[in-house]
Amino acid sequence: MQIKCNVLDRQFQMHQNEYEEAALRVLRSGWYVLGSEVGKFEEEFAAYTGRKYCVGLNSGLDALIMSVRALGIGEGDEVIVQANTYIATVLGITENKAVPVFIEPDGYYNMDAEQIEQAITSKTKAIMVTHLYGQASNMNQIAEIARKHHLELIEDCAQSHGACFGGRITGSFGISGCFSFYPTKNLGAFGDAGAVVTDDRDFAERIRMMRNYGSRIRYYNEIEGLNSRLDEMQAALLRVKLKYIDALNAQRRELAAVYDGGIQNKKIILPMVRDGADSIWHQYVIRCKERDNLQRFLAENDIQTQIHYPIPPHLAECYQRLGHKEGEFPLTEQYAREVLSIPIYTGMTDEEQQYVITKLNEF
Ligand SMILES: *Cc1c(COP(=O)(O)O)cnc(C)c1O
Repeated sequence: MQIKCNVLDRQFQMHQNEYEEAALRVLRSGWYVLGSEVGKFEEEFAAYTGRKYCVGLNSGLDALIMSVRALGIGEGDEVIVQANTYIATVLGITENKAVPVFIEPDGYYNMDAEQIEQAITSKTKAIMVTHLYGQASNMNQIAEIARKHHLELIEDCAQSHGACFGGRITGSFGISGCFSFYPTKNLGAFGDAGAVVTDDRDFAERIRMMRNYGSRIRYYNEIEGLNSRLDEMQAALLRVKLKYIDALNAQRRELAAVYDGGIQNKKIILPMVRDGADSIWHQYVIRCKERDNLQRFLAENDIQTQIHYPIPPHLAECYQRLGHKEGEFPLTEQYAREVLSIPIYTGMTDEEQQYVITKLNEF
């Protein structure tokens, strides 16, 4: 049996007729960028995240870059960010010439809230928190620190559509919730797409101008903008998937529970979920001291796995200029050596999952 990390057409097939209808509606409409589908998706996604405003964008990375910029954070400013995150989170900071200040993770692979305060300086402007692998970060504590020190709070929700902390949905804690709808995300489009959600009217308005060349009225450019428009096709298709996101997430929760109960191998550390948090299981990430051997063994048995992420941003080639050294963030570096994401996706069959479990236990 061959098991892939992700089989994207399974979720398409679940609601194929609706997707095809939506796509045809857009093709026949004669309007393809920033139109009524985008407007309706923005309303619906704002409602889903419990926020007043949503601005549809081109990607999750743009949501991060534009959020930092719209808050006026730039050269010389510091932004606190977890060391174990996807490079995009950090690019959101450095694309604005601000400086990322890295924090080690906790046992849930999220930012260790205990270490934030000692990293705050007179230059700190914001905390950028990633709800990694689908699990909400410790938002009570992080939001409280942000409030106490008058720091902006930006959430990278690219992996956490619908995940909650203390019953409150991620993306609703900070001034800005940044989402990616890249096809492999839990709420995935059929191409690139992203969004920012917020309750702040001015902030939403700045993002809205910025995504379309800095103009509210065409050719009247108030600020130096970008082109980060969401297209009608992706918005229409996302509107279909948004109706089912809770069911899709529930299915991943069931798959995660089966892994939790089924994987019994002393060499493998299973993921944990913090009290008060929940996870939408964007990834199911195990850890193993012999990770590379395990990955090879699984590959020999036709099971595809991924490493999220093999090189932490502070050691990435592109950030040599920041001058970080190996050993500076030992926990992050250990995770990078040991983590392995095993297949978990919508439509994964019981038979497929049992095969993965059998091989993991055999190792
Ligand atoms: C996917 C992802 C992004 C970037 O989203 P894109 O839409 O690919 O630009 C940012 N942060 C995290 C944590 C991600 O997983």
